[in-house]
Amino acid sequence: MAYTIDLTGQVALVTGSRRGLGKAIAMALAHAGADIVINDIAPGREEAEATAAEMRDLGRRAIALCGDVSNPEDATQLIEQAWTEMGKIDILVNNAGITRDNLLIRMSDDEWQSVININLSGSFYCTRAAAKRMMKARYGRIINIASVIGLMGNAGQANYAASKAGIIGLTKANAKELASRGITVNAIAPGFIVSAMTDKLPDDVKAKYIEGIPLGRLGTAEDVANAVVFYASELAAYTTGHVLNVDGGMVM
Ligand code: NAP
Repeated sequence: MAYTIDLTGQVALVTGSRRGLGKAIAMALAHAGADIVINDIAPGREEAEATAAEMRDLGRRAIALCGDVSNPEDATQLIEQAWTEMGKIDILVNNAGITRDNLLIRMSDDEWQSVININLSGSFYCTRAAAKRMMKARYGRIINIASVIGLMGNAGQANYAASKAGIIGLTKANAKELASRGITVNAIAPGFIVSAMTDKLPDDVKAKYIEGIPLGRLGTAEDVANAVVFYASELAAYTTGHVLNVDGGMVM
């Protein structure tokens, strides 16, 4: 048996994918052969189009659709439009996410709600809309981007930790509910990943984080994207309701 991953003919929608981890995930899925739907919110429209053009340069079909995943109508419209234009969605990656850190007693209602609405409710709205279609197709791969913060908590991130822990619960409930229809639902919990967020950290803070990572480095967006490709592939056909830490051994 040859161990190759070939997603040719499959369609993947990655939320929040004009830049950052989402773009790396979309790019990895495209390299594996999948056609791609890029999603972002309206202000990122031009950049989202440019990201989709990069996927087309690889020979894939790719479109960019704007839509705010925290808005239930937008999320439903996003899934429906993607299904209509691409013919199906085999792989949904719920990646769109934000942080709005503050200490608990200073955290505003808006800081709490915006993070819960985008990270957790956004994943729910997109999954609900996609599942309706995937159940009829009797196939689907849903991959939720959580975080190690949802497993271990972090001071100043009550909203983010709660949203990511919620995503893990959502993953497990949906995995149980959708398994009989040929749909797997898994989550990835990245640790500290080289990104716009970690680039801003002072070197001494970064060094302190690295001390707590057995593999001795920050992760890359490609490390996370590789795990997504695995979950999307036939190699993960018997894996559902699972959380895969991509964290260099930080949480174990
Ligand atoms: P990022 O660079 O800030 O990218 C997030 C993307 O989501 C952006 O394209 C953003 O659009 C989009 N987005 C935000 N709100 C949205 C909404 N309401 N609807 C649709 N799209 C929306 O973040 P990242 O570092 O790549 O993180 C991606 C995911 O990985 C997040 O879920 C994050 O929690 C998770 N994660 C990241 C790390 C890390 O170290 N970076 C670690 C663990 C987990 P704009 O470009 O318009 O802002």
